Amino acid sequence: MTASLKPWERIIEQWLGVLRLDSIKNKIVGFALLATIVPAFSTAVLSYGQNKRALTEKLEGELATAGSQAAREIDLWVKESFLDIRVFASSFEVSENLERIPRGGMTSQVARSRLADYLAGVQALFDDYTELLVRDSQIRPVASSGGIIGEWEDLPPDWSDRLRQGETVLGDPYRDEARGGDVVTFAVPIEAPNSRFLGVLTATLSLDAVTNILERFAPGEAGQVSLITADGRVVARTKGGPEFVRGVESATLDQLTEAGDATTEYADLDGVPVVGILTQVPPMGWAVIAEIPRAEAFAQVEEMRASSLFLVSILLVGVGLVAYLLALLIVRPLARLTQAAGAVAGGDLSVDLPVTGRGEVAYLTEVFNEMVDRLRQGRQDLDLANATLRERNTELERLSSTDVLTGLFNRRHIMDEFEEEIRRATRHERPFAVLLCDVDHFKQYNDTHGHLAGDRVLSRVGEVIEDVLRGIDIGARYGGEEFMILLPESDLDGAVEAAERLRERIRTEEFPGGTVTVSIGAAVFPEHGDTSNKIISAADAALYRAKRAGRDRVVRATPHA
Ligand code: GH3
Ligand code: MG
Ligand code: MG
Repeated sequence: MTASLKPWERIIEQWLGVLRLDSIKNKIVGFALLATIVPAFSTAVLSYGQNKRALTEKLEGELATAGSQAAREIDLWVKESFLDIRVFASSFEVSENLERIPRGGMTSQVARSRLADYLAGVQALFDDYTELLVRDSQIRPVASSGGIIGEWEDLPPDWSDRLRQGETVLGDPYRDEARGGDVVTFAVPIEAPNSRFLGVLTATLSLDAVTNILERFAPGEAGQVSLITADGRVVARTKGGPEFVRGVESATLDQLTEAGDATTEYADLDGVPVVGILTQVPPMGWAVIAEIPRAEAFAQVEEMRASSLFLVSILLVGVGLVAYLLALLIVRPLARLTQAAGAVAGGDLSVDLPVTGRGEVAYLTEVFNEMVDRLRQGRQDLDLANATLRERNTELERLSSTDVLTGLFNRRHIMDEFEEEIRRATRHERPFAVLLCDVDHFKQYNDTHGHLAGDRVLSRVGEVIEDVLRGIDIGARYGGEEFMILLPESDLDGAVEAAERLRERIRTEEFPGGTVTVSIGAAVFPEHGDTSNKIISAADAALYRAKRAGRDRVVRATPHA
């Protein structure tokens, strides 16, 4: 009975093979790891997503708050500065002296110096002001807080127009090389009490004030707030000074503007990836950017991701280890079983496996032990039967090659030995002798003393032959009252000598009814033939001649004709 696999079972089997999961141990470990990694990983991913979202919202809130608060403060600072400068510009001291200057002469001189004194006085009161300058209705400089007017740059033409219409103007920030500082210029019109345009008061303010404001709103350690102009130049920022030349790129500006109230990710001036938000400072088209390096912003999330990964890894290692040990526990007895089965297959039936626990494997082990036990029993029975058989075979062998009456070998056996002896003698180039021995007048003996007495004579002759022979000689009953003796390593003289000894012994032996004699014919290999037939014929001929010559003698075979 062969249990063939269903198609789907075969497919699964193939896949398990591809994944190297065909052993039980690997299957258990693989399953345990899969069962761990799927929930652990999905939980980690889910919580990572949630945390990232929460953190992004919090970050967005923080940046938006920092940005809008900074923007409001800057707006306030600009408005307050304009208000202050307007107050200075509307001072009676300014308008009166400015009206006197066109009159020329001493009056003009005095007016200029008084105006300068006034401006110097104001500047001394406020740290932020680096310079105050008054221009007349033709926008020509007439007095400054710094004293004498040297060479002055003209105001941009559109400024004059706006100022003449009563507007205030905020200039672009720049680096004041002469005084060594970053500044911005505020310009307000100077008007007579009847609203007639008299001139312009420009105040140059240090941007340090702006930096100080921004610093109050910097988000976190790594975060920064910058104030930028509409075209992206950096007026001030909390980390590093202004950047009038290399400003925020327009693509970044567009991206920030598009994002609106939400944060967006981009590279800052130094190329560092940051998360930032832009808030407009309405009146002058400036804007505040609050930003924080991306790495810093999501450090917590990254940390969490790393620790989740670490946890999942630890979990995997732990579960993998436990699964491995479990698998070992399951597989070890199976491996022992397999090994034992191999040993049994190889013929070793001494195995006896320890049965531990109560599971399927324990049951299998028990069955296995029982099976081996039965095999052992079976083999013992078989061994016994074999031994008996062997014994009987030996006995049979002995019987088949033995003559029952004399206990000597029988004719069949000595003929086998004869052929063997011819081979051996040929190989070693050595002679061997054959004696044919026949009891004389045995018929007569039988007739006189009875067949049983004749049997006893034959038996006794057998004993004598056995007694006279050397250990290597072989005696057999050749048939009736005729015996054959093989004498290995013996020549004709040796053989005749042995034959004489035998003849003499038998003749002196006492039998019921007197003596019994034998006649013997002797032949040797290879002198009298190279086959058993030839040698036996030669010996037989010699025996015949012995009978003819009167019996009770030994006769040599004649040389081969
Ligand atoms: P010879 O001297 O010429 O050999 O004379 P013989 O009588 O011995 O020879 P013959 O061949 O004429 O007679 C052999 C006799 O041996 C005949 C037979 O009865 C007897 N004989 C043969 N086998 C046995 C046997 O197993 N037991 C007994 N008791 N006699 C046997
Ligand atoms: Mg005979
Ligand atoms: Mg005889």
